Amino acid sequence: MPDLFPRVAVIGGGPAGLMAADTLAARGMRVALYDAMPSVGRKFLMAGRGGLNLSHSEPRPAFVARYGERATRIAPWLERFGPEAVRAWAHALGVTTFVGSSGRVFPTDMKAAPLLRAWLHRMREAGVEFKMRHRWLGWQDDAHDRVLRFATPAGMTVIDADAVVIALGGASWPRLGSDGAWVPLLAGRGLRVAPLLPANCGFETTWSEHFRTRCAGQPLKSVALAPPASGGAAPRWRTGEFTVTDTGIEGSLVYTLCAPIRDRLLADGAAVMLLDLLPALPAERVLHEVARPRGSRSMSTHLQSRLRLGGVKAAVLRECVGPEVFANPARLAAAIKAAPLRLTGMRPVAEAISTAGGVAFEEVAADLRATRLDGVFFAGEMLDWEAPTGGYLLTACLASGRTAADGVQSWLAGRRG
Ligand SMILES: Cc1cc2nc3c(=O)[nH]c(=O)nc-3n(C[C@H](O)[C@H](O)[C@H](O)COP(=O)(O)OP(=O)(O)OC[C@H]3O[C@@H](n4cnc5c(N)ncnc54)[C@H](O)[C@@H]3O)c2cc1C
Repeated sequence: MPDLFPRVAVIGGGPAGLMAADTLAARGMRVALYDAMPSVGRKFLMAGRGGLNLSHSEPRPAFVARYGERATRIAPWLERFGPEAVRAWAHALGVTTFVGSSGRVFPTDMKAAPLLRAWLHRMREAGVEFKMRHRWLGWQDDAHDRVLRFATPAGMTVIDADAVVIALGGASWPRLGSDGAWVPLLAGRGLRVAPLLPANCGFETTWSEHFRTRCAGQPLKSVALAPPASGGAAPRWRTGEFTVTDTGIEGSLVYTLCAPIRDRLLADGAAVMLLDLLPALPAERVLHEVARPRGSRSMSTHLQSRLRLGGVKAAVLRECVGPEVFANPARLAAAIKAAPLRLTGMRPVAEAISTAGGVAFEEVAADLRATRLDGVFFAGEMLDWEAPTGGYLLTACLASGRTAADGVQSWLAGRRG
């Protein structure tokens, strides 16, 4: 007897795959979810350690702009499942959310586990089968694109699905399951995959030993960073905070500038950022205070008393400019407002919060169906987009899972009709 309900294989149990599975099961499809790990949602649970920033409450145009060059591709996903839908989804699972002072959206309890538990419970009730410890190894030679090979503890197994959603994540934090091992599998099937690169990552610089031992781990608060502008344009400053690390810098302000820094590093081998240590003060005021007579006081004491510039901020300034600058008030004032911070490398993708690169958008239709494969859809971080931290990653992953599920449903309906 033929199956009455289509069988959909979802590979990857992160937020993108889970959203696809949940949506399809709720619409009456038979869904099996495969994951290489012993349990699903490990990176989602890790995100819970930071309070689980689910989304952001800023107005939609600003929200969409966070996806940079991919904004026009991702905007339609957010039409289906945007920040408001993310909150409604959590509420439907019994988890209330709140908007923090920065506009970020979190579960009220700042935890991921209760939300994941309720979500999985709903999926099991809807009949989703969870096939753990199933590592996808690619396609069966000479078979159609929905015949999939898995390594399991019991040996190799091959399944034949009616439609497939692949949502294997990027390559950051590989111990949580997403290790990027899928890249050669897709490339071998003729799909274009942009190299996986660190996003929301730390960058390296050459701190002096003295600075490193004294300042690593300390935050630089209320500062601004800008990539150097070319062609005489004014630098585009971003204000926020970041942390000094043993090897360089990391933190939210650095993450917002990750793509331009990375591009510059890849092109030139180094990226000189401009650092404004006192963004709240105009340059003239800084010069006025620096140039005041200081009597017998040291320049350090002078900067501390006139501008409250001390501690790690004063120390980082000494890392960026030579001692001769401290002898010249005009040059010193200019350096306080735009100190050159030379970055020499990026931290490895395994340490990054997320991954840039992935399945090229030219390979997928608007509904995330792979145009060169038959009945295969992609979702989540494994597609070639990136976004800063702030809830934009999870929102787009969930939205892409919903988009792929909608695509699967229409594609299956088209085949039956
Ligand atoms: C420390 C940390 C904190 C974060 N905090 C936030 C936050 O607060 N807000 C936010 O928006 N984002 C955050 N993120 C990013 C967010 O968690 C990810 O963007 C998101 O989980 C990606 O979802 P995904 O479904 O695409 O992939 P993943 O969540 O990576 O899931 C992919 C799944 O595929 C499985 N898999 C991989 N390869 C195979 C294979 N060959 N066979 C079978 N299964 C396979 C993996 O085991 C995994 O379960 C954080 C990330 C990290 C590392």
